[in-house]
Amino acid sequence: MRAIDVHVHPSTRGLDTHACHYFRRELNQVPQTAETFADLYIKQDVRALLIGWHPSTVREGARNSNEHVIDLAVSYPDAFAGVLASLDVNAANLDEVARYAEGLLRHASVKGFKFHPPDQGFYPSDKKFYKIWDILQSGNKPVMFHVGFTVLGANTDGGSGIALDYGRPIHLDTLARDFPRMKIIAAHPGWPWEQELIGVLTHKKNVYGDISGYLAEQLPEIFLKAIRGRLQDKALFGTDFPYVDLEKALTSFDKVDFKSAAKERILFSNAQALFQL
Ligand SMILES: [Zn+2]
Repeated sequence: MRAIDVHVHPSTRGLDTHACHYFRRELNQVPQTAETFADLYIKQDVRALLIGWHPSTVREGARNSNEHVIDLAVSYPDAFAGVLASLDVNAANLDEVARYAEGLLRHASVKGFKFHPPDQGFYPSDKKFYKIWDILQSGNKPVMFHVGFTVLGANTDGGSGIALDYGRPIHLDTLARDFPRMKIIAAHPGWPWEQELIGVLTHKKNVYGDISGYLAEQLPEIFLKAIRGRLQDKALFGTDFPYVDLEKALTSFDKVDFKSAAKERILFSNAQALFQL
């Protein structure tokens, strides 16, 4: 296996055409059937972790869901290593959400969880979610949070109701302090707070970062320097497919001057160890 891609949105459902446009992706290049989607990962010899969350800005087409990505992972094990399940933090009854999370944790295809604080409108460090975090920490599966800028609502009046503040990396610092056994993944380099994120990654052993949403050559310079050096054990390869193309992401990664040990760690073994794949 060449790599593990820890940040993949199924292009079969919940496709955000606005985000595709932002990343200049032609829709006819994006696989929209389960088979063509799986084939793309098999051809590149990469295994993906599929995200079950559905963006609030996507209102057309079929909805993405945990059940949909679990189905894909079960049907195409050579392409998909498992799923990062999502929870509705805005549900009226958080005890029910907690019980649902317990069920997901028992599912073999569920390798972790993914949240999008700016789109879901919540602070990861808000104490009202601590009973849910307690359960996820006990379940011993990593929990990913979007950090930094989001293309969702970008260049629209009022950002379509989305506030960037929820995605500040510093909120994960508080969470990591209060849940020291929770493996936390900050998705993306955190721009425009990439320095804040590097501070959190350096200080909290239980926080990791993925490089998704960027071609490796275009990562913020200070972030790239950090993951080539002392943070090489904490960085994970991810694309943010379908918004970033897998093949282009791999080619770009190859062009960056990583030491070969760091390269192998970021592409493969850090994620293998973290998700126990
Ligand atoms: Zn994403």
